[in-house]
Amino acid sequence: MSSARFDVLIVGSGPAGSFAALTLVRQGASVALLDKSTFPRDKACGDLVGPRGVQLLMDAGLSLPSQLNVGDMVVIGPGGRRVLLPSRAGLTYPGYGTIGTRVEFDASLQNAAVDAGAVLFTGRADAPLEVEGRLDGYRTAGGIELRADFVIGADGATSHVGTTAGLVDANKVLWGFAVRSYVSQPVDLPVIVLWEQSRWHAFPGYGWIFPSADGGANVGLGIATRSDRTAGNGAVRMFSQFFDRLRDLGLIDRATPEPSPRLGGWLKMGMIGTTPARRNTLLVGDAAGLVNPLQGEGIAHAMSSGKAAAEAVLFDPGNAARSYRASLASAHLPYQRIGAVAHATLAGRPFATAAIARALTAPGLGTAVAGGWAIFWNDLLDGAPRSRARKVATASSGFGDRLTQRSQAARWFEAEYR
Ligand SMILES: Cc1cc2nc3c(=O)[nH]c(=O)nc-3n(C[C@H](O)[C@H](O)[C@H](O)COP(=O)(O)OP(=O)(O)OC[C@H]3O[C@@H](n4cnc5c(N)ncnc54)[C@H](O)[C@@H]3O)c2cc1C
Repeated sequence: MSSARFDVLIVGSGPAGSFAALTLVRQGASVALLDKSTFPRDKACGDLVGPRGVQLLMDAGLSLPSQLNVGDMVVIGPGGRRVLLPSRAGLTYPGYGTIGTRVEFDASLQNAAVDAGAVLFTGRADAPLEVEGRLDGYRTAGGIELRADFVIGADGATSHVGTTAGLVDANKVLWGFAVRSYVSQPVDLPVIVLWEQSRWHAFPGYGWIFPSADGGANVGLGIATRSDRTAGNGAVRMFSQFFDRLRDLGLIDRATPEPSPRLGGWLKMGMIGTTPARRNTLLVGDAAGLVNPLQGEGIAHAMSSGKAAAEAVLFDPGNAARSYRASLASAHLPYQRIGAVAHATLAGRPFATAAIARALTAPGLGTAVAGGWAIFWNDLLDGAPRSRARKVATASSGFGDRLTQRSQAARWFEAEYR
């Protein structure tokens, strides 16, 4: 059995792990980057990196292959009404997102980390290794012992590191599940479809059709399931009906066959239920539950939390867990708390969800709030320039904050992020 020791072991080489690795090795740390898959590998995704993610990539000096930049987005309500959510540059992010396959995106981030000096291992983190009650690394399924002063769990929504380190309370975690496929038919703008399975009975999530860099489109359906992971197959079961809805809306030609293969995955949302760091173990990205509970974005959060965890380890090693928690709180609260409460409340209320979806896409109101909706929904308020849209987003955030301040979720966040 071989064994090696590093400053930091990072389990998982998705956007969170690779970005953490890149940040660490650029500052001279020795890093083992362990992933169970051989890259390039696929990952279920809508493939859209939001404006904050684009800014992080630019700040890190990374250029990525085969990307397509996208700005405005269309939301189609249950009645078929369309609202354009405008994309505007902020003071701290550009006015566009970028699209590329996860096969290429994740491989190029991993390559950047390895080129900068991270040592890549392929294998599944299996048995935790402990020294005096402290996590000292993992033995891989192939029998290699990787030991380190710090362990960063970047191993996705169902994180093995989070579970084995006792950082996840399964009864509190909020889940989503989404499935996606590709069609060769082009689409001009990213489209979100708020959908009713029957009149006034909203599907607890949304579907999408996004342009892809090769001229076709990425089509998907995501469902919010609260803490119930058995409900995730709702997105798989309903995919055919949703595809028919896209045909009815004229977004897919009648002749276009239902796509296959499809790939699905879990989204751990709203931060709640996961302790992000304890002692020398830090969770980043989906492992920390950072996916936006209102719209499912997680790549930007994965990269920013990877960077934040790396910086806590580099610049405050004696206090890394506390320092990382503080940085997560300042970047993501109260937004994630508001989103978590909205997710948990609306997931079981199809009528209320339908009413909100109809109101937001109604003529007049939809257009009036679209700018603020685009800012608030995409968590772009911090850094948004002065405008009427910013005022709408600020009012929505303030209202959500007041409404959720005394919730059980608020008490959980207070205890964890004190
Ligand atoms: C269908 C779908 C659509 C989505 N669409 C979007 C979108 O359009 N935009 C967006 O921003 N976000 C989207 N998301 C969310 C986004 O995919 C995630 O937030 C993002 O991938 C999180 O990155 P990560 O690095 O934390 O985890 P991941 O990308 O999941 O990477 C985790 C890595 O850990 C490895 N791993 C797991 N367990 C182990 C182990 N035991 N040992 C070693 N390695 C291990 C895995 O192989 C994997 O490479 C979507 C999610 C789904 C499911």
